[in-house]
Amino acid sequence: MIMETLKIINPATEEVIRELAADSVESIGYKFEQLKHGQKVWAQVPLVDRIGCIGRFYDLLDENKDELARTLTLEMGKPLQQSYNELNGARSRIRFFLDHSEKWLSEEWITSVGGTREKITYEPLGVIANISAWNYPYLVGVNVFIPGLIGGNAVLYKPSEFSTLTGLHIQSLLYRSGIPENCFQLIIGGGAAGSLLLDLPIDGCFFTGSYRTGMAIANRMASKLVPCQLELGGKDPLYVMDDVTDIDQVAAAALEGVVYNNGQSCCAVERIYVQEGVYDRFLESFTAQAKKLVMGDPLDPASELGPLSRKQQVEFLQDQINDAVSKGAVLTTGAGKIPEKGYFLAPAILSGTDHSMKVMKDESFGPVIGIQKVKDDAEAVKLMQDTEYGLTAAVYSSSFERAEAVMRQMNTGTVYWNCCDRVSAGLPWSGRKHSGLGSTLSYTGIRAFVQPKAWHIRG
Ligand code: NAD
Repeated sequence: MIMETLKIINPATEEVIRELAADSVESIGYKFEQLKHGQKVWAQVPLVDRIGCIGRFYDLLDENKDELARTLTLEMGKPLQQSYNELNGARSRIRFFLDHSEKWLSEEWITSVGGTREKITYEPLGVIANISAWNYPYLVGVNVFIPGLIGGNAVLYKPSEFSTLTGLHIQSLLYRSGIPENCFQLIIGGGAAGSLLLDLPIDGCFFTGSYRTGMAIANRMASKLVPCQLELGGKDPLYVMDDVTDIDQVAAAALEGVVYNNGQSCCAVERIYVQEGVYDRFLESFTAQAKKLVMGDPLDPASELGPLSRKQQVEFLQDQINDAVSKGAVLTTGAGKIPEKGYFLAPAILSGTDHSMKVMKDESFGPVIGIQKVKDDAEAVKLMQDTEYGLTAAVYSSSFERAEAVMRQMNTGTVYWNCCDRVSAGLPWSGRKHSGLGSTLSYTGIRAFVQPKAWHIRG
């Protein structure tokens, strides 16, 4: 058996903090067989008891938050406070599942009188794969493995190679919560390990990651004829109309949407359009606020921005910046001096951009933003929709009617008025076009992990 080694690197120091043996074809096959047996037993556990286990996991996340937050910051570089925020956010999503799963998974009588009675029950899919991303490992993980487990499935969970230590914490806390070991198994490794999962006769695949990997997975899954959900990337626009009353506040909100988690959010603000009447004032305020950001050691409470999580992303973003500047954009950088070691990149504000530039078309996934002037709402709509992606779109305006007219024209899973870069557990989270297929969260994200059975009962 060939065991490959996965090196966990702290992106703030470039030091190897742990080495782990990656899963092999044999170990993955063994884990899958365990889950196949375990799932049948787990599905017979009453729904309330399955929910009870997840309730204990909810408590354990809080009891262990200091250690969990520190690990998350060490392996993917987000500022420590943002690691705590992510844990809190994950708990509020779990709270939603705890409170609403019974309603959406219990049997439903459609007619209970007359000759033929009819009802619907919701049955688990079976053993599902959850191949996940590193940018919010708790948030994107709980979207899948929590409703998956509550629904009676067993989960083969492959965290990203850039958030494996967090994945190990998740596994250990789930076991301590009462989830049987043969219902949840972690797979350690990168893309090769993920690819091996697709060779197995899994009953569903729930993926969070890039469009490129998502397409490869969808192609591999197609012949299995089982559910395959994809939560992919975005190129999310934000449009500032000329009737906004507080430019500084709008600029602050937009800046946070750009740089929170160092821009490594699927729904980060990726491009900004500003109506000409407020363009200069917006740019001035946005730039002034960006310059005040503090970038540094993510364990230092003063740091608002840490390093990027992956080394190759520094080069990728530098290419977007160079491309925009070579085509006429003006570059201003924020956050002052940056550390010499680690995968740090100063936030880059590119003004005077247009759609011939990569920064306005390709997902950046970092603290880089293009800002473009527009004449009116019609031009803004045209540019906002000039994208292969369809995750979110935000409009800032003092008029809901005017903003609504724009939001109705967005072919995106989510629209925001006077807010951006947010996800709510009560609302479906879904992408259109290259941003994905299917949805998590809300009741749709509970029902996504079960299949309905129609009962016709006569006599
Ligand atoms: P990625 O596609 O590189 O990797 C995602 C996962 O897929 C990892 O676990 C990786 O090991 C695995 N993988 C890679 N190649 C594989 C293969 N051939 N077969 C099976 N598995 C494979 O993405 P990433 O860098 O981890 O995440 C960043 C991307 O995720 C961005 O595009 C971001 O927008 C997107 N994202 C989307 C959402 C959403 O909710 N829509 C949330 C978070 C991140």
